[in-house]
Amino acid sequence: MNRPLTQPHAPPQAPAQARDSAPPAASAYLDAQGRLRPERVRADFPILGREVHGRPLVYLDSAASAQQPRAVLEAVERYATTTHANVHRGVHALSQEATAAFEAARDTVRRYLNARSTREIIFTRGTTEAINLVAQSWGGAQLQAGDEVLVTHLEHHANIVPWQMACARAGARLVAAPLTPAGEVDAGAFAQLLGPRTRLVAIAHVSNALGTVLPVAGMVALAHARGVPVLVDGAQAIAHQRVDVQRLDCDFYAFSGHKIYGPTGIGVLYGRESLLAAMPPWQGGGDMILSVAIERSTYNELPWKFEAGTPNISGAIGLAAALDYLEMLGRERVAAHGQELLAVATARLRTVPGLTLVGTAASKCGVASFTLAGIHPHDVGTILDREGVAVRSGHHCAMPVMTWYGLAATVRASFGCYNTRADIDQLLAGLDKVREVFA
Ligand code: PMP
Repeated sequence: MNRPLTQPHAPPQAPAQARDSAPPAASAYLDAQGRLRPERVRADFPILGREVHGRPLVYLDSAASAQQPRAVLEAVERYATTTHANVHRGVHALSQEATAAFEAARDTVRRYLNARSTREIIFTRGTTEAINLVAQSWGGAQLQAGDEVLVTHLEHHANIVPWQMACARAGARLVAAPLTPAGEVDAGAFAQLLGPRTRLVAIAHVSNALGTVLPVAGMVALAHARGVPVLVDGAQAIAHQRVDVQRLDCDFYAFSGHKIYGPTGIGVLYGRESLLAAMPPWQGGGDMILSVAIERSTYNELPWKFEAGTPNISGAIGLAAALDYLEMLGRERVAAHGQELLAVATARLRTVPGLTLVGTAASKCGVASFTLAGIHPHDVGTILDREGVAVRSGHHCAMPVMTWYGLAATVRASFGCYNTRADIDQLLAGLDKVREVFA
């Protein structure tokens, strides 16, 4: 058979749809001091204009899922209405353009994380799938009876259960580093638990239940000094911190599109190329192979080796648009705005009678978790909802950290780039209402 002139997975010729909307000038989003004007940012998020129970929506649940700006919604719609076709397969124009847009989105993610190569950027359904990929592929190949995987007591279930499953298959053991009363990882205990049996460290960058920012670079250095690779669950950090995987020097970094103003159903696994190259595929099917015979198959190159089946093309394009949007706002400005809101919210919440903040780490971002004496968090959440204020109440898919504090649940207010001080006023007014109801 003659060789075709082009290879199905050849690099894209022209970035078509991923980033074709010219963002508004960033200056419109800044005040005289160069800080973010959240009122202007809000205007980009159509959903924030709606009412809930007859009240203007105050959305304080971005840690569960952030809302999407028009730039993302339009990029996804434009892709669907002008470009959609399956990727990596067709020689026809739409397929070529869709492939170019999908691979351009991968490069946007690479730049955002400062990864060395797009071979290190694997699209997944989200953080959960990214961690499962590593647990099954790396864990399946590397973990042996008697080995240990080290996590912490503040992890999301997505960074616990896949390791439990991998450990159970291998006869290995899951070990969790304890916390201080403030909700920080006990550094001395972590260093001690990092022992000769530890094969992998898997830690959150930021806790979704407490807001604690973990000193990830230092923890990575400690693990690497013992030759132990580190996976970082970046689901909560990605929207609040400048994440540079080369500076962190982590081996894996996982995040979800929907936590960073992008669509659901798309996420990313960054992996150090040398590790990914040595890992076996985890799902088999189309796209992850070079050739298939009934007797055996050969696998595709990175990153496609880990992307079996038709990927979430429009999701990847939406995610790239979200990252571009944040770059346009300025990542440092978005981070500073988040810090300011958290500081204001924390100070005001401390004045509420009967309120206890859960998680008082020196370094926090994005999240204020609390309880109100004698009132169930679900009741707090329900009454706030009637006031139009959306918060999360429950165990936040982090039951071990709740158990650590002897709690079944907390109320969690979380902040995004579109939240304002007026939103915090509404939260506080809502909490007054809750206390009135239960007085
Ligand atoms: N880890 C953390 C810290 C999270 O906050 C979340 C989402 N709540 C996840 C993992 C799981 O993310 P997803 O459901 O998008 O896979």
